[in-house]
Amino acid sequence: MLLAQILLLPLLVAAAPSTPLSRLLLTPETYGFDQFSSAERAQIDQLTSRVGSLDECQSACALLSILNPGNVSIFGTAGYTPIPYWSVQQSEVTPACRLDATSATSISKLVKISKLTNCPFAVKGGGHVAFAGGSSIENGMLVNLAPLNQVTLSKDRTTASVGSGNTWYEVYNVLDGKNVSVVGGREAGVGVGGLTLGGGISYFSGRYGWACDNVKNYELVLANGSIINVSPSSHPDMYFALRGGSGSNFGIVTRFDFAAFEQGLMWGGSRAYSMAQNASLIKSFYNFVNDAPTDKFAHNYIAFVYAGAALGGYVGASGPVYGKPEANPPIFAELDAIPSLVDATSITNMSTLAIELNQTAYQRQMFRDLSFKNGPGADVLMTKILDIFIEESQPLLQKNISGFLPTLALQPISLNIIEQMQKNGGNALGITTDDGPLVIQNMDWGWDNEADDAVVLGAMKRFQRRCNETATAMGLGSRYVYLNYAGLDEPVYAGYGEENLAKLKDVKQKYDPENLFGRLWPGYFKL
Ligand SMILES: Cc1cc2nc3c(=O)[nH]c(=O)nc-3n(C[C@H](O)[C@H](O)[C@H](O)COP(=O)(O)OP(=O)(O)OC[C@H]3O[C@@H](n4cnc5c(N)ncnc54)[C@H](O)[C@@H]3O)c2cc1C
Repeated sequence: MLLAQILLLPLLVAAAPSTPLSRLLLTPETYGFDQFSSAERAQIDQLTSRVGSLDECQSACALLSILNPGNVSIFGTAGYTPIPYWSVQQSEVTPACRLDATSATSISKLVKISKLTNCPFAVKGGGHVAFAGGSSIENGMLVNLAPLNQVTLSKDRTTASVGSGNTWYEVYNVLDGKNVSVVGGREAGVGVGGLTLGGGISYFSGRYGWACDNVKNYELVLANGSIINVSPSSHPDMYFALRGGSGSNFGIVTRFDFAAFEQGLMWGGSRAYSMAQNASLIKSFYNFVNDAPTDKFAHNYIAFVYAGAALGGYVGASGPVYGKPEANPPIFAELDAIPSLVDATSITNMSTLAIELNQTAYQRQMFRDLSFKNGPGADVLMTKILDIFIEESQPLLQKNISGFLPTLALQPISLNIIEQMQKNGGNALGITTDDGPLVIQNMDWGWDNEADDAVVLGAMKRFQRRCNETATAMGLGSRYVYLNYAGLDEPVYAGYGEENLAKLKDVKQKYDPENLFGRLWPGYFKL
């Protein structure tokens, strides 16, 4: 472009009808952008002349491409290859374009473009939210965090800096080789971002709390596009909010600096049981949740799943893991005494455990959850919950719902975990030792066909309601609903308690006063 043209451009643009793009060219700083290069100006100018024939998101995607050359693909063109989600419902949602984010700056530009054009966006980490739109967007801009995949360990081995596009396998695969680890997810394909921002149950939680309790610093893109670091000393109010408040109200995390710890081989894995062992399995889990503070290296969950007629129908499962290379430590004595059909426990490392547990269903899926107190009688409650699970899922099996795969899992929030949640002034979840110990009951049901959505979801919700009513009637009810396992209609933030909810709303208002994320980042839990 000739110098004269560059100098004349503002006048030419000013004479043209005012559009967001023409205004952007005139005063980029008003929209948070630095001055554009001459090549960018020329392309934006050309785009301005086409803008009448483009909708908001076509304009937004074109501008995004100009400002992030090589990293934006437009849906429906040859250059667009879909990226995988865990559930079919999410895969069915198609964006207008996708940014393969390579830096916080590229995401910052997208946030500013969203504000300028009113084109909505979504952010995809590991893509493991089940419901449609959770990390996908119809005809909006999709931020794919996957290229943000660095994993580096500080020289003193106490901090692992993890790009927010990593899956947990990618993290453990690097850290296992260095004999360190971080508090993170248990399954290989789950993303660092979603899991850590909503909580993060880990095999290491007995020692350190949830993943969110072990982030030293976040690199965060705010609603105004600025990039900040968030830690106990830098933006402490935001530091509180990000520890469990989830990202979609506060910003896009581009890097997590996790507390790292020395970690060699471990023991653990999965076991399967016939349904004849239910009573002992439940009793051993009930005792484990109460006894866990006596050995903080131990983790366990139990589950019940319909495994198919060929495998005998419903089966039980457990997942004992010990943070030292010691098979069958005494804390699991009661569990070890239960005869299992399959025992896949071994001495191994974290990345192998994460692969062994990984579920790659790629079906229609839905998660929901509730929690209850592991107080006296909770073993009886769990037996009732299992009965209700079978009562609500069996009729669907009898109807031959294609691919129907119901799972009920029970997971511990023992007192030692709750104590760790109070670190650094406490996280946003609002769980105290007075509330616990607690058990999270999560339901993960899979099926094949959209035509069966209503009947499956109806049964799932009925199952959940009946369990909540039973727990409450037994004096074991709990307000806490784990965000990372919740359906979108569940009142997750109410479960954080009034005080924490008010604090979260204040933080949201302070950092996003125009409610950009409320308006233009739909699809996930909103305050
Ligand atoms: C098979 C399976 C195993 C699981 N195992 C565990 C487990 O062991 N422990 C546990 O606690 N939970 C577990 N979960 C639940 C899991 O924590 C949630 O599904 C979580 O949201 C997944 O995160 P993701 O990044 O993969 O998902 P995504 O669908 O990519 O993201 C979830 C939400 O977080 C947002 N988000 C993601 N990254 C960022 C970011 N960097 N900044 C801002 N927002 C972001 C997304 O926009 C979206 O709204 C599991 C789920 C599945 C399906």
